[in-house]
Amino acid sequence: MKYDLIIVGAGPSGIFTAFELNRKQPDKKILLIEQGKAIEKRNCPKDKTKKCVNCQPYCSITTGFSGAGAFSDGKLSLSPEVGGDLPELIGYDYVQELIDYTDKIYLQFGADTKVEGVESKEEIKEVRRKAIEAGLKLVDCPIRHLGTEKAQEIYQKIQNYLLDNGVEIKFGTQTTDIIVEDGFIKGVAVTDSLKKTSDEKFYADNVVISAGRKGADWLKSLCVEHDISHRAGTVDIGVRVEVRNEVMERVNNILYESKLIGYPAPFKDKVRTFCQNPGGFVSQENYDDNLAVVNGHSYKDKKSNNTNLAILSSHNFSHPFNQPIKYGAKVAELLNMLGGGRILVQRYGDILDGKRTWQNELSRSNVVPTLPDAVAGDITSAMPYRTMTNIINFIEALNTVVPGFAGTETLLYGPEVKFYSNKVEISQEFETSIKNLYCLGDSSGWTRGLMMASLMGVRMGQILGKGTHLNEG
Ligand SMILES: Cc1cc2nc3c(=O)[nH]c(=O)nc-3n(C[C@H](O)[C@H](O)[C@H](O)COP(=O)(O)OP(=O)(O)OC[C@H]3O[C@@H](n4cnc5c(N)ncnc54)[C@H](O)[C@@H]3O)c2cc1C
Repeated sequence: MKYDLIIVGAGPSGIFTAFELNRKQPDKKILLIEQGKAIEKRNCPKDKTKKCVNCQPYCSITTGFSGAGAFSDGKLSLSPEVGGDLPELIGYDYVQELIDYTDKIYLQFGADTKVEGVESKEEIKEVRRKAIEAGLKLVDCPIRHLGTEKAQEIYQKIQNYLLDNGVEIKFGTQTTDIIVEDGFIKGVAVTDSLKKTSDEKFYADNVVISAGRKGADWLKSLCVEHDISHRAGTVDIGVRVEVRNEVMERVNNILYESKLIGYPAPFKDKVRTFCQNPGGFVSQENYDDNLAVVNGHSYKDKKSNNTNLAILSSHNFSHPFNQPIKYGAKVAELLNMLGGGRILVQRYGDILDGKRTWQNELSRSNVVPTLPDAVAGDITSAMPYRTMTNIINFIEALNTVVPGFAGTETLLYGPEVKFYSNKVEISQEFETSIKNLYCLGDSSGWTRGLMMASLMGVRMGQILGKGTHLNEG
């Protein structure tokens, strides 16, 4: 069986490639290969077990139709400044056009029409003034908040649309390799995700790899094996911070998400806030090799008493080391080891006092952890000195913008690691050094958010559909 296009990975970048190409050229034969399940079959047993049972061979939070997006908070960042490096590749204004275009598709499928973070202009000015005083930069970014439950509904509709319009989707199928002949892509080799017994090959004129953060390591090994040009990027390591809503109330109301960037002394590394969830919940996701990493999300209606956000410190390496994914994984492994395989949580005051946190101390706090199976302990015993210093100094600066943020009861969960560091060299048409092989989304190293991954997929669909103008077709 030969296809016009095979897409590996049904995350936002993969599904929007299929969506847009199908819209432009409905006759094209498209095969979407996904190692996880259809969206309606994805579920996390934690709802019943109350603690992560480390599902094998994959975690349903990050795997299945709509990828990490389905169970994500569904915050669409509507600014080119956020979510990846595509502006460097195809231009800032063009990315903004693609954001507006892709946003309309989300609206078509039922996204909330409200946009957060644009109304309170005077109050935003005041937050910016305090940020400047603290040596931080406030990034303007309007947000469309889908909410975890609504995001699932929207992606369900997109899945139905693709199936109704002739896109073939193979669930439970893991791509193991690509088939390359004379510098051209020819197809992919796959196996059954669960049993790993079957071996099949599918052929196509074009192959798109959109395997997400989960597939970043696998893609790196493909790059090495097939000599696909790539370079080591940065790795972001940090913690998820949780405070009472009362502490963040003002900023939550004005901005919903405060995107702040700083370069704290003495290292002057880039440190930033990421993925803020007012009234949200801290969550755990599992990567291959049983790595437990922390994340956060929020529902549209169900609210907690806390707000969580990530503080991430970027690390760049130079000769002779060029394995940032491995570095991030080692740090995460060490933190997991101290937490007995679970996420560690520590109070900020204990970090400053140089002591671990005990479980009974947590229960005395105003801030009740929204990740109940996180283990109280000592993050500082595993976090590299440089990262920990960056985090502490950034929290102190943030305290000027949000008084109370550096409170003794503030919770730090670890590890939060972003594995998007291997950057595949691609053209402006997203083509790799192998002809007709394209890399998209978080696995390509060019995106790190829903909107940027989605619009990269939309643009890919347009390129493959030979559309040269955004509104064509
Ligand atoms: C808990 C959580 C909350 C988040 N919240 C937000 C948010 O609010 N806003 C935001 O902008 N971003 C958020 N993100 C990040 C966002 O979800 C990702 O940036 C986005 O989903 C990336 O899209 P993608 O298409 O590149 O990859 P993914 O969404 O990761 O999808 C990749 C897919 O490829 C599949 N795959 C991987 N390898 C193979 C293989 N070998 N064979 C077959 N299939 C394979 C995977 O199973 C997966 O389904 C969140 C992420 C998480 C985990």
